[in-house]
Amino acid sequence: MNTADERTITIALILTAMMLGWITGELAWCLFFGSLIWIGIHYAEFNKLREWSYRPLGRPRNALDQWFAVAYEPYRLLTRERERTRNIAMRLREVVGLTEVIPDAVIILSSAGNIENINSAAKAMLQITDKDVGLSLASIVRSPPLIQFIRADGGANPLEFTSPINPDKSFEARRFDVDTGRTVLLIRDISDLNRLLTMRQSFVANISHELRTPLTVVTGYLENLSDPSLPLELRLPLTEKLNAPVSRMQTLVEDLLLLTQLESSPIAGRQQPVNMHAVIAAAYDEVKNLQTSDDQISIRCESDKTILGNEKELHSVCANLLSNAIRYSPTGMPISLNWCNVEDRVRLEVVDQGGGIAKEHIGRLTERFYRIDMAGARSRGGTGLGLAIVKHALLRHASQLRIESEVGAGSRFYCDFQPLDEKNDSS
Ligand code: ADP
Repeated sequence: MNTADERTITIALILTAMMLGWITGELAWCLFFGSLIWIGIHYAEFNKLREWSYRPLGRPRNALDQWFAVAYEPYRLLTRERERTRNIAMRLREVVGLTEVIPDAVIILSSAGNIENINSAAKAMLQITDKDVGLSLASIVRSPPLIQFIRADGGANPLEFTSPINPDKSFEARRFDVDTGRTVLLIRDISDLNRLLTMRQSFVANISHELRTPLTVVTGYLENLSDPSLPLELRLPLTEKLNAPVSRMQTLVEDLLLLTQLESSPIAGRQQPVNMHAVIAAAYDEVKNLQTSDDQISIRCESDKTILGNEKELHSVCANLLSNAIRYSPTGMPISLNWCNVEDRVRLEVVDQGGGIAKEHIGRLTERFYRIDMAGARSRGGTGLGLAIVKHALLRHASQLRIESEVGAGSRFYCDFQPLDEKNDSS
């Protein structure tokens, strides 16, 4: 809107009044009426300013430049402030939008502890809804440790607490106090992390335990061997006695390395068509010395199908299942290994008539170092890693270990594979 120069209008008004006064001879009256008009114009401008002040977000409507200048400065400041607020709101919306991609719960609290913003993870983890925004967090989340943590000053150390929704879950909360008095609360689910830490601790404890026994034996023999008073003929039998604990440690380390390697990838290393007859024969050769009678193991290879896989890993599967069947069966009890077709798959099956396994243990047998009878299993020479190796080797062959067992009646360990020819047919 264009404004008029107030000084020009005033001068024009005075000149007009003087001219009219000179023509009419009534100069005083003309100047008087001129002043009235001048006051009227300014009164109208003042009213416009007053009206504008009720709605200061619109542009001022004053026509005279001096009045316009009076209104324009606050109008400019207001507009700038409004723009700034709009930008901040936009940024805040963007930030809140970004928190949606964070898998952890993000909660923004006001200085009074009321919820200002939450992301989807927070809604899911703490069962907060959009309706709860604006309410106090303490009135919605039933977790005294968390509420105490929010109310406490500082809070540099993260808080670990149990989920108020699911007592099996553990959460970790961190708080960040912002200048404006707000608090940003980050909560993450650390249940899996805790489980992993516990597993790692028990894994290290198990390995130490497994190694300690043979190491103690070796140390004892070595002490005797280094005794200078011991006659030479007595030392030789001692060196032979070192074989058993040393080979036990060696087997344990080899099994550990193999398991680590198998766990590192879900795909079997160096796959090729495998003739399982040869693999089974080699595994039998490896374990046959453990048999408690010469014909304890009977092998039936009814299927001629080949599978795609890694010979070494499949050998490990057969050898572990066979050696377990021997070790957990009473002397001479028959054991059978079958390689047979079952529908469109080919099955490897090891069946024994040993003591069997109670139901509650079956699901945990493939855990590292899980044994039903710890002392008994150790004395039988196992490392506690056999079935874990079998499980992971099979997973790398798109197969799964299945166990059926009954206490007192024996066990059946089996797994199915996709035969190679049918794979090619279907592709
Ligand atoms: P281990 O070296 O102790 O044999 P495994 O991982 O091979 O470790 O087996 C885990 C546990 O499963 C064994 O300690 C044993 O309690 C049980 N188990 C495995 N195979 C059999 C079986 N054929 N019959 C009965 N129990 C078995």
